[in-house]
Amino acid sequence: MKALLPILLLTCVSLTAVFAKGGPPINDVCPVDGKAARVIYRIFEEKGPVIFCCATCLDTYRKNPNRFTVKPKAEK
Ligand SMILES: [Zn+2]
Repeated sequence: MKALLPILLLTCVSLTAVFAKGGPPINDVCPVDGKAARVIYRIFEEKGPVIFCCATCLDTYRKNPNRFTVKPKAEK
């Protein structure tokens, strides 16, 4: 019975991590070249998930995030 506790704790921690990383992306346009971004290409910034149009842009941004401005989605 005692052996179950660490497993339960671990499950809770990983669930929390998933929720913290989830949520909608903060942008809908690729910050690198301005094309329509897709959710499958994303990284997690302090401000939230940032999405890109392709893996190349994602890499470019990740190498030098300060070069690009993430344009937030227009609020509804
Ligand atoms: Zn792009």
